[in-house]
Amino acid sequence: MVDPLSQRTDPLYQKDGQKHTHTSTITSIHALSSLPADTQSLFKPPPETEPYVLTTPSTIFHAQGGGQPSDVGTIFASDTTFHVHQVRKVDPAILHMGVFSPSDKKFEANGGEAEAEQKIDTSKRHLHSRIHTAGHVIGLAVAHLKTTGTIAPDVVDGKASHYPGAAFVEFSGLIPGDKKGEIQARVDEMVAADMDVKIHFWDEEKAKKECTGVMETLKGDEEDGVRVVEIGSEGSYPCGGTHVQRLKECGRVVLRNIKRQKGITKVSYEVQDA
Ligand SMILES: [Zn+2]
Repeated sequence: MVDPLSQRTDPLYQKDGQKHTHTSTITSIHALSSLPADTQSLFKPPPETEPYVLTTPSTIFHAQGGGQPSDVGTIFASDTTFHVHQVRKVDPAILHMGVFSPSDKKFEANGGEAEAEQKIDTSKRHLHSRIHTAGHVIGLAVAHLKTTGTIAPDVVDGKASHYPGAAFVEFSGLIPGDKKGEIQARVDEMVAADMDVKIHFWDEEKAKKECTGVMETLKGDEEDGVRVVEIGSEGSYPCGGTHVQRLKECGRVVLRNIKRQKGITKVSYEVQDA
C-alpha cells in the first residue's frame, strides 16, 4: 500500500497558473477514514458519501495556503468522476479530498499506467486569484504611502486571508482610519495602470533583500528557490498562491473597513466586477 503522505506531488500551478486541465496518473487512493487522525482533521468532508483522498504525481489543484482557499474541480477516469472538494498540502504530498460519482465505482491507483484528467473550476480559481492579487495590491499601496510619509514607516505587512466575502490583509503597526481614501486612491491608480503580475524564482538572499513584505516563512525549494510575485515595478512578495496576469483582471478593488486592535491594523476588502 502506498503511503499517500510520503509521495511528492509536483505543484504545477506554481509554474503555470493558467493551466486548467492536466492529465496524470493516480499515485494512491485511500478512504479518508483510513488515514491518520491528524490527516483526517485537515478536511471537512461532505456528509452524504464516503470521502476519499487521491494523490497524483503532479497537480494543477491549488492547495489551501497563504490565506488562499483550495481549488475545486474534478479528476476523471474510467467513466468515473472524482469530485475534488478540498486540497491540502502535507509536505511533500498534495492531498485531493472528495467523493466519487457514481459513488459505488472507483478507479484504481495503477502505478503509473492509466491516466486521469484533472480539471479545475476555472471561475472559482479566477475569483480566488483576483481576491488574492488584490491583497498584494493593498500591501503595495500601503508600502507606497509609507514612502510619501502618509503612513508611518513602522507599518509592516502581516497575515492575510483571501476567502470570498471575508478577505482582509493585516499590518503590524497602526494605520489611521482616515487614510482609507488615500489607500483606495493608490489601489485604483495601480489597477488603472493595469500593471503586470510576474512570477519569479529567486534565491533566498535576493528574496529577503528585494521583497516588500516577507509574509510567509521564507524558505526556498531546493530546486527552484523562493517563489516570488512581482507587481509592475511596485514591489514583490514571496508567495505560493495563484494570481491574475494583469491588475485590471481584479476588477474594482474596494476597501471596506480599517480596524485596529492590539497594534495590528486589519484592512478588509472585496473585489467587484469592473
Ligand atoms: Zn500571492
